Amino acid sequence: MGGQMEIEELEHDIQMLRKQLKEKVEQLKTLKKHFQKNCINKLNNHEIARYSRQIILSEIGMQGQLKLKKASVLVVGAGGLGCPSSLYLAGAGIGRVGILDYDEVELTNLHRQLLHTESTIGLTKADSAKVQLEELNSQIEIVAHHTQLTSDNALTIIEHYDIVVDATDNVATRYLLNDACVLLKKPLVSGSALQLEGQLTVYNYKNSPCYRCLFPTPPPPDAVTNCGDGGVLGAVTGVIGALQALETIKIILGNEGVLAGRLLLFDGQQSTFRNLKLRPRKKDCTICSDNPTLTKLIDYEQFCSMKATDKDSQLSLLEPEERITVQEYKQLSDSGIPHLLIDVRGSNQFEICQLPASVNIPIDDVLKNRKTDDILTQASQKLPVYVVCRRGNDSQLAVRHLAPLFQERGLDSPKDIVGGLHAWSHNVDHQFPIY
Ligand SMILES: [Zn+2]
Repeated sequence: MGGQMEIEELEHDIQMLRKQLKEKVEQLKTLKKHFQKNCINKLNNHEIARYSRQIILSEIGMQGQLKLKKASVLVVGAGGLGCPSSLYLAGAGIGRVGILDYDEVELTNLHRQLLHTESTIGLTKADSAKVQLEELNSQIEIVAHHTQLTSDNALTIIEHYDIVVDATDNVATRYLLNDACVLLKKPLVSGSALQLEGQLTVYNYKNSPCYRCLFPTPPPPDAVTNCGDGGVLGAVTGVIGALQALETIKIILGNEGVLAGRLLLFDGQQSTFRNLKLRPRKKDCTICSDNPTLTKLIDYEQFCSMKATDKDSQLSLLEPEERITVQEYKQLSDSGIPHLLIDVRGSNQFEICQLPASVNIPIDDVLKNRKTDDILTQASQKLPVYVVCRRGNDSQLAVRHLAPLFQERGLDSPKDIVGGLHAWSHNVDHQFPIY
């Protein structure tokens, strides 16, 4: 009985302490705000020293540094682009940096998302970024938004910032950010990086076109590749992210040379930069023209027919009889039934890991009928054909493409292995690598 009472007392104490902590945190916030308000119009000695190497630039000076101090920037996406851009923005002394991300830190992020560390795997990216940015600069305010940006919350979040940095990796969010920034009259510093290439431009700034002026309709979903599928080199995202911070700083300073109405293309393989002049604003743009037909945010996942995240999305193209599970394939392969297993991943991925006796025919070759004769010849010798890929999407595309060719010849259709090698690793062989 005594023990029970002690536990209750301790629980009560903890509750009281939590309440006190919450009150103190609120007090601290109010004090900080008060402090910042009072010193917003001048730099203290600490700030003069901290930012001295950029204050002495004629492009910045004391007035420029004060502009940075008064400015607020929202970085959407704490990934490959958001990490370097928010680091340089926080380092440069932007008064308030918001960092928005819905995701958690994973091991596959660390090669390029350098704000996150091995010890923050599993934490939210927004919190992980906030901790690191505060370590770098405790004199500014860092706001973590752990949320998915949606049509419901975008305007309320963005209206509290001067400029938005688009550091996301999907088309639906690009349209959402564009429309929200046009409606709220905020410049949008947009970057992207894939494999060894990157792009950069500033939308909606001093009469420059918006994203919709250039891309009135979204691309077909299967024409879009993200970093999870296409791969990306960390140093390339670093280049583009750092340039996003640079453009943002120039906008805040009101300096010339902002990359609006131009598109910068970076080729990391050749180490070249190219500048393309963009078409001017579209007079009949649905959102930024004088008579817009869009006056509020819409459903962007529906508009783009794709998810607003870069999480795995599972296609479902086939009938159940055209597919088998990894467990069924395991049984069949263990019992020594002769068959042909086609792995449709790219050869680089095939090199990482593969199932025994699988034959690598990349999906592009399958879809362009480059090696289909080989497959058909083997199939015609009454060998059942199975198709596998990393996550089970490309294998479905391959089966859908091959099935009519098989049927023409009176052969049994090939079968898709559901969930691909990820499913194999989860459900059959835990030692099989996942990437
Ligand atoms: Zn427009």
